[in-house]
Amino acid sequence: MNEALKERILSRIEQHDSIIITRHTRPDGDAVGSTKGLKRILELTYPEKTIRLISDDQSSYMGFLGPDDPQASDEVYAQSLLIVLDTATFDRISNAKRSLAKETIKIDHHVDVEPFGDIEWVEEERSSVCEMIADFWQTFSDRLKIDTFAASCIYTGMVTDSGRFMFPGTSGQTMRLAGAMLDQGIDVQTLYAHLYLEDFEYYKFKADILENMKLSPNGVAYTYIDRDMQRRFKLTAEQASSSVSFMEKIRGSLIWIAFIENEDATIRVRLRSRFLPINKLAEKYSGGGHANASGATVHSEQELAALVADADSLLKDYKADNEGWL
Ligand code: AMP
Repeated sequence: MNEALKERILSRIEQHDSIIITRHTRPDGDAVGSTKGLKRILELTYPEKTIRLISDDQSSYMGFLGPDDPQASDEVYAQSLLIVLDTATFDRISNAKRSLAKETIKIDHHVDVEPFGDIEWVEEERSSVCEMIADFWQTFSDRLKIDTFAASCIYTGMVTDSGRFMFPGTSGQTMRLAGAMLDQGIDVQTLYAHLYLEDFEYYKFKADILENMKLSPNGVAYTYIDRDMQRRFKLTAEQASSSVSFMEKIRGSLIWIAFIENEDATIRVRLRSRFLPINKLAEKYSGGGHANASGATVHSEQELAALVADADSLLKDYKADNEGWL
């Protein structure tokens, strides 16, 4: 699929001596894995080129994949190809110098709400951008080199963004490409230890959320983590945000939401669902995202309550009109 487009992208890569790779702010496993995996593939293939991975923020959860590169000068940007991975909109790019690049390529699997760049390769049905990078490598496997580290980065993003291959976006092709990465000799036991092991304190935080989370009349599970709680459990913003996943396996709770108070007192909203889409609800609260995973922002506890009430009524209607949900 999109063979001509991939060919154009490879040709732009081949024509630049300096390439800068970047991703979205608050990076997740897919954003980190895809950028690091692509960087390694290009470094192995083109040792004469300068390949940098530059982002303004990092993920401590993904720290085991190693650090990024330092910011470069404006002059470097002026002669560089910028490759933006996993980022739907220009303002979500985690790089203050994003406008300075000579040429920009967007590679993404989000809804293409805001096209940007000189070349765009967007496939919404892909389970992750890492899957697209694996596909890119496989398409040109006679020209592009890969090693165990590149494959591990890519596999990490495929595993995390597909919910361990459980989300609906997971296709036969996802598994074939994941297999191609495993064939590079990934140490899966160490990788999963990095992804799953948690500190004792974090378990206590999880226990607190499970103890105190709430359920709306029609089954929306939700939790609010204010700054006091974040201090009490010594949580990073990333750890606090991860609480949304604690509520994902409650029978009948087809929507679950974590509200996390930010430093500036706004409240980050992380919405998740199964069977029914929640991105329209997120859009109502200055957010958006995928059908089953969206984000938004609210500005007060009143607005928080209004969002829960809207989610509850959405779920009520869905349960009344549909069968077979769990
Ligand atoms: P999160 O809960 O932050 O991981 O977000 C889930 C999905 O929703 C991600 O794919 C984001 O791209 C998207 N998303 C999060 N926040 C926003 C926002 N404010 N506007 C549009 N999309 C968002």
